[in-house]
Amino acid sequence: MNRPVVCIVGRPNVGKSTLFNKIVGKRIAITEDSPGVTRDRIYSEAEWLNRYFILIDTGGLEPESEEIIPMNIKRQVEMAIDTADVILFVVDGREGVTATDMEIANILRRSGKEILLVCNKVDTHKVSDKVFEFYELGIGNPIPISAEQSLGIGDLLDEVIKHFPEDKEKDLDEDIVKISVIGKPNVGKSSLINNILGEERVIVTDIPGTTRDAIDTYVTFENEKYIFIDTAGLRRKRSIYKNVERYSVVRTLTAIDRSDLCILVIDGTEGVTEQDTKIAGYAHEKGKGIIIAVNKWDIVEKETNTYWEFEKNIKSKLSFITYAPIVFISAKTGKRVNKLLELIKVVNNNYNLRISTGVLNDIINEAVILNQPPSDKGVRLKIYYGTQVAVRPPKFLIFINKKELMHFSYQRYLENQIRQYFGFEGVPIQFEFREKG
Ligand code: GDP
Ligand code: GDP
Repeated sequence: MNRPVVCIVGRPNVGKSTLFNKIVGKRIAITEDSPGVTRDRIYSEAEWLNRYFILIDTGGLEPESEEIIPMNIKRQVEMAIDTADVILFVVDGREGVTATDMEIANILRRSGKEILLVCNKVDTHKVSDKVFEFYELGIGNPIPISAEQSLGIGDLLDEVIKHFPEDKEKDLDEDIVKISVIGKPNVGKSSLINNILGEERVIVTDIPGTTRDAIDTYVTFENEKYIFIDTAGLRRKRSIYKNVERYSVVRTLTAIDRSDLCILVIDGTEGVTEQDTKIAGYAHEKGKGIIIAVNKWDIVEKETNTYWEFEKNIKSKLSFITYAPIVFISAKTGKRVNKLLELIKVVNNNYNLRISTGVLNDIINEAVILNQPPSDKGVRLKIYYGTQVAVRPPKFLIFINKKELMHFSYQRYLENQIRQYFGFEGVPIQFEFREKG
């Protein structure tokens, strides 16, 4: 689904992160133990009245450091203008208008974006005169809130969702497979996309007269339509934050959210890094299909075991996505980019794969016979039956006697049994266990 993006901007200490946490609430907790980047608390899904959106605290993107603050703020604002559908410009209602507020307002006003002026720290219901000062910024009505006291947040969110662009939440291209090429800066994402688009068998389609996102490229490959989502800012390298890693992370997360399938590009001269792990973790959590492309293989010094060693290293460092196929490519020479295209087809088919209930239960029954389910205090886990309830990604609903008895290791075992028959290469498998009396 295509979610509207809401960015919070403003100078330090006005209460941006307090507001972020208030809006996001407890919802973020589920991802707390995961390797994903969502832990950083700068990027999260949020919801208001059944409208789902992505919330970004741009202030959290930069380390605090006095002398570079003006530069940072400028970057934050640029990044928000580039990414957001709605910008929340937060000011401090107790301090009144400052010179920095003015500067930010000047940049924002020229952007043509939907901007809401949020006047924070109005801790009483009585709105102080200071609030009216903010009309001076030329952004419109200041909306008084107290992030800390949770005052006015509901009214603010009512206003936010009113400003979501029409159609954004509807997926115009529901049937088209969306692919994002993800990875750290400089691993070769743009080179790879360019190489794919240059392939003879890949036809780039122009879609005239639509309001579709300019960063998407529509292609056809062997009668299947795909959209490549640009994360690297392929066509807009102009931006002043292009080298700031954390901005690229935000861009990456937004792209992953929108895609069905992710090609995770790893630099073959470097190996798997911490950031690769985080990005992969996020794609996995979100149930996306994943292909790992080890790039720059043309300049990696190779000995007999180099390939195997590399693969082993990936499998151990990215142990939560051992289902992802690995392909060693060169975006520069085009080596094995063809193979990558074949893998896209395979993984996409797997993403849509549906197993009949009969076959699934044969697999489960056999699994139970081969390896007895765990028991606790004399009660043994019983698996009654299962059925596949979703595709993209595949999800299995399994009825059991007692949820506490289903340990992760047994779930892993069931997953492996299913994979033994159906592979599901490149695709995460999700389970839901339900008790049945
Ligand atoms: P940021 O730098 O913009 O992210 O600001 P923070 O969210 O870190 O908040 C800066 C300071 O302002 C902290 O000490 C907060 O406790 C305080 N603060 C945030 N929101 C409010 C509010 O609504 N009222 C008051 N009185 N203080 C607030
Ligand atoms: P991005 O930031 O991930 O989009 O990376 P780019 O596509 O801009 O590539 C970064 C640098 O790596 C550029 O100098 C590319 O020419 C180089 N590069 C990309 N792919 C390859 C490759 O397969 N082999 C070699 N030797 N260099 C590559």
